[in-house]
Amino acid sequence: MGASQSDNITRTSRRKNQAEGILDVAIIGSGFSGIGMGAELKKRGINDFRIFEKAASAGGTWRDNSYPGCACDVESALYSFSFAQNPSWSRGFAPQAEIQQYLEKVLHDVNLDEHMCYGHALSGARFDAQEKIWQLKFSNGQRVQARKLVSAIGALHLPNIPDIRGLNDFKGEVFHSAQWRHDVDLTGKRVAVIGTGASAIQFVPAITQQVKSLTLFQRSAAWVLPKPDRAISKLEQGLYETVPPLMSLRRAATYLRLEGRALAFNYFTSALKVVEAQAVRHIKKYVKDPVKVQKLTPDYHMGCKRVLISNDYYAAINREHVALETCGIERVNGNAIIDSNGVSHEVDVIILGTGFKTLDAVAALDIRNADGQTLAESWENGAQSHLGCMLSGFPNFFLLLGPNTGLGHNSQVYMIESQIRYIGDALSKMRQHSLASVEVKESVQAKFVRQIQSRLKNTIWQSGCQSWYINDKGENWTLWPGFTFVYRYLSREFKLGNHHCVPRNVEKVAAVLDVVEGELI
Ligand code: NAP
Repeated sequence: MGASQSDNITRTSRRKNQAEGILDVAIIGSGFSGIGMGAELKKRGINDFRIFEKAASAGGTWRDNSYPGCACDVESALYSFSFAQNPSWSRGFAPQAEIQQYLEKVLHDVNLDEHMCYGHALSGARFDAQEKIWQLKFSNGQRVQARKLVSAIGALHLPNIPDIRGLNDFKGEVFHSAQWRHDVDLTGKRVAVIGTGASAIQFVPAITQQVKSLTLFQRSAAWVLPKPDRAISKLEQGLYETVPPLMSLRRAATYLRLEGRALAFNYFTSALKVVEAQAVRHIKKYVKDPVKVQKLTPDYHMGCKRVLISNDYYAAINREHVALETCGIERVNGNAIIDSNGVSHEVDVIILGTGFKTLDAVAALDIRNADGQTLAESWENGAQSHLGCMLSGFPNFFLLLGPNTGLGHNSQVYMIESQIRYIGDALSKMRQHSLASVEVKESVQAKFVRQIQSRLKNTIWQSGCQSWYINDKGENWTLWPGFTFVYRYLSREFKLGNHHCVPRNVEKVAAVLDVVEGELI
């Protein structure tokens, strides 16, 4: 079939879809991955798509996390799209508001505004095997039909609320860091923070000066390294603006430096001992109380949980009005937290820096295949997928940041870019070959899962700590083991041979007839 004939068929089929009110592609979520996916479709000339966003604006986790001190912990030169590099970052590690503005600008620059449907939280999706169509339901009551469904909901949007007895009846204010209550003035208040992860180490220093007292409940200490952050001068910004290759050069250098960490996390884990010594020196530089130093020194290998970076966290903990409790929480009673030694800590505000339900966020969506099986049910024995992008049993369903594509060492945006190209290639090929559906073969998925799970065995993440990377059975369905360029290589092309492909025969014939008829008239 010639290219122009194929184009005609595509155009005719698009007209037909639009007349029937069937979207070609529905993307759920408008964070980095949803916006990236939209940009990729535009680049490929695919315009029949919508991005459904639960909130009233785009930005995903960078919209939700507006806590004081929120900033990226990966350098912005790399934590941004390669196709939309930004010469204007004000710091090496940009603050949240700038990242949010950046995402809104990209959305606008690649003309996604007309594709956005805000206030649309997906409440359910079911694949109609007969019609090869996803039937989508939104919590605002809207129903939409789409031929392909792309989940771009990310992993960090379902707050993990700890199951602490009495927490719901706490007499003061309680909120999660991703749902920061800007209306609650912390000035002069007695504040308790639960959790000492990536978010807490950013907001604790930002609120310490303001509060009367801060009690930090740490379940396990994090490894925290100095943050090589700096302000970027107007002169340097101007240089990037006028000589863009300089920006790309900086980006490439950052990528290579971070990629080097994959060697330590995956292959030479003992090399991390040297960095552990550096981290202990970092604690002792700021914290003078030996008891606090001891509590802050992790008892597991660096890298097992996400390695954090901060220049002000330890200085904040060193302050006299900041207490560090490690004995655990027994319950909340009235306006007090009772620790497991029975000591009562009276506070006015509790802030939960307790992280997110990661893979559960996708599994929690009521997405059902033609047999009525949900994602959660299909993942009962582990979140199996192919390249974290496709699932056997779920035709025409694509995932961004799916299982085993999270990173502990480099920029997640790099992985997102690999995936949007892969899914973009899948969608282009479906058009090119007039396919009604594609579904990854079970054998292909099983081989991928086997390889990944075997590679994960000797990585630092399996070295004995408890983290959100690992499930109750000790399995890791979260992280990509190894180099990100290997992932990019594996996902460089959507291979039709790896999939069950169902041609749109009837429609194809009808479309050809339409074209012929059009030409006769
Ligand atoms: P997190 O790193 O998962 O930390 C959660 C903290 O809460 C941990 O200290 C955890 O202790 C503690 N915790 C959880 N449940 C608890 C419970 N029931 N009782 C007591 N303590 C509990 O969460 P996060 O800080 O929100 O960060 C989540 C992810 O967001 C990060 O890993 C990172 O990927 C991302 N993030 C990225 C950036 C960025 O700049 N790119 C910034 C912030 C966050 P344990 O360690 O003992 O489990």
